[in-house]
Amino acid sequence: MSTYNTGIDFALQLDKADPLASYRTKFHIPKHTDGTDIIYFCGNSLGLQPKVTKDYINQELKDWAKLGVEGHVHGKNPWLSYHELLTENMAKIVGAKPIEVVVMNTLTTNLHLMMVSFYKPSQERYKILIEADAFPSDKYAVESQLRHHGFDDKEGLILWSSRENEELARYEDLEAILEEHGDEIALIMIGGVNYYTGQFFDLKRITELGHKNGCVVGFDCAHGAGNVNLDLHNSGADFAIWCSYKYLNSGPGSLSGVFVHEKHAYRNDLNRFTGWWSHNKETRFIMRDDFDMLPGAEGWQLSNPPILSMAAIKASLDMFEEAGMDNLITKSKRLTGYFEFLLNELHNESIKIITPKNPMERGCQLSIQVKNADKSLHNKLTDAGIISDWREPDVIRCAPVPLYNSFEDVYIMVERLKSILNER
Ligand SMILES: *Cc1c(COP(=O)(O)O)cnc(C)c1O
Repeated sequence: MSTYNTGIDFALQLDKADPLASYRTKFHIPKHTDGTDIIYFCGNSLGLQPKVTKDYINQELKDWAKLGVEGHVHGKNPWLSYHELLTENMAKIVGAKPIEVVVMNTLTTNLHLMMVSFYKPSQERYKILIEADAFPSDKYAVESQLRHHGFDDKEGLILWSSRENEELARYEDLEAILEEHGDEIALIMIGGVNYYTGQFFDLKRITELGHKNGCVVGFDCAHGAGNVNLDLHNSGADFAIWCSYKYLNSGPGSLSGVFVHEKHAYRNDLNRFTGWWSHNKETRFIMRDDFDMLPGAEGWQLSNPPILSMAAIKASLDMFEEAGMDNLITKSKRLTGYFEFLLNELHNESIKIITPKNPMERGCQLSIQVKNADKSLHNKLTDAGIISDWREPDVIRCAPVPLYNSFEDVYIMVERLKSILNER
């Protein structure tokens, strides 16, 4: 990796040399009160809106107006099979085969649907292992599954914690947990990229460890999809879920992606909740047949899906396909490396980056811990035109996103942070 330097000229030079720079113009960038572009570092929470999204949604509104119910078969993009238009590009983004991927429902809903099939507790093996700082929704979901099966949600939950005075989880500690409790654990469910620290876990390593101990392994990749190379198929994970509104820029509350490993694609023995959309497409509308399961991840669908939301996903995935996930990751490493360099160059004792230093163990997000900080620091950043993400007690999460953030954005962010820190 070549070295960086601290001047603004250098940032502008990097932008000029950036083959993906033009993608920024394809997004709506919110404006600060003074009319300049907001420095938006919150793509880890809600990605910005591509300008073409409106056209994709309008196309479906137009067909609905013109065709009514006929749009299901005679629309430009027939609604009956609309979700199939998303599968291939979504599969590429997460490193999966098309049969392993479907877009449906929302994230936490899908986590429950996956646990219906993959969390099979017995009296001896019923515990669920999650990372200690798991996203709250995931923690609530697994706790409720424990209770649903009649187990105590405190006793049944095993936490993979970081050590005292450390932020990142260590694999040797996971190994030790499995050594001791491996035969009590039914399910390992980890956030592929931890939402708080930005630590990108080695999915393959965790999966192999889990499988060796007889555990099912699933990942919540909400902070990984569209951000890092997840390589889900090769990880061997049993299932994964993610949302499309963070790095996948598909709009607030948009639908979730699901991965079910190919090895489970034709399993009739896996219990699942079903609906007419899990039924064989050829005979679905005869509506009299006994249930005939669709193979692959599609076989977990329940309902006919919301097309308007899927249109926004299609707009975004088409852009990812054009830009190329590999190119995005290359830029991302450079952009975040530059961000890290500038923060380190501040030589400010009151800040500490808690995200891993190794670029292979993180995505674009850096989590900055600020000594004795409270939310007023975050408010000052917001007043200065920087949208970042505050997490109690003392962490600012910043995600420079390769599709729409520039090196100049990163430069400005660090300059403003510097003056705010100096004022304290
Ligand atoms: C964003 C996020 C969620 C949000 O869940 P929804 O069901 O989409 O509201 C859940 N888990 C993780 C790890 C997340 O990052």
